[in-house]
Amino acid sequence: MTFSKLSLIEPILKALEAEGYTTPTPIQAQAIPLALEQRDILGCAQTGTGKTAAFSIPILQLLFAEKGREKGPVAIKALILTPTRELAIQIDESLAAYGRFTGLKHTVIFGGVSQLAQTNALRAGIDILVATPGRLLDLMQQGFIDLRNLKIFVLDEADRMLDMGFIHDVKKVIQKIPVKRQTLFFSATMPPEIQKLANTILVHPAKVEV
Ligand code: AMP
Repeated sequence: MTFSKLSLIEPILKALEAEGYTTPTPIQAQAIPLALEQRDILGCAQTGTGKTAAFSIPILQLLFAEKGREKGPVAIKALILTPTRELAIQIDESLAAYGRFTGLKHTVIFGGVSQLAQTNALRAGIDILVATPGRLLDLMQQGFIDLRNLKIFVLDEADRMLDMGFIHDVKKVIQKIPVKRQTLFFSATMPPEIQKLANTILVHPAKVEV
């Protein structure tokens, strides 16, 4: 199996080659084709399995196909929610690496630091937002974030959101995003509360397990 078998576009194949990736990991081989078909996904995978690329690559490819079609300023079309600042930064770096030839814009927001650099980046217009739940809600309430054009929502490490006490914030975010969207849901474990959340927000999800 190689990435060239996954119907990926040239700008992404070129970036993966530059990263030195040749073979998709099992989660990538399963999830990328399904996500490119715009299916909802319920993915059981831990950190270290390559799940970041499994959701980042389809987002980049789907949004690249739509690029230039929107009227007016660049709007947020994909949101990736993750529990920690470290994960958020890693995901943003992955988007930079895999998306370097796509021209798509992304940024990352998290708590514990001044919001000024983050709100400036948002104001410039971005396609993909990586966020931790608390700072996202905070900036949404202040009117810095418009998610009306959101097409793809990723919930990363759902079980850790629960462990860290963020699940209420996550649910609040979900209430504020468009219902008509693609959702990619990842969790290492499936405790009942997480299974219940998955059942309520996913539509005919494809199950992916590694
Ligand atoms: P993740 O599980 O997304 O945190 O990824 C774990 C590590 O694997 C990261 O350092 C990635 O850069 C790396 N990685 C992801 N996919 C591949 C791949 N297909 N080939 C080689 N390395 C990869």
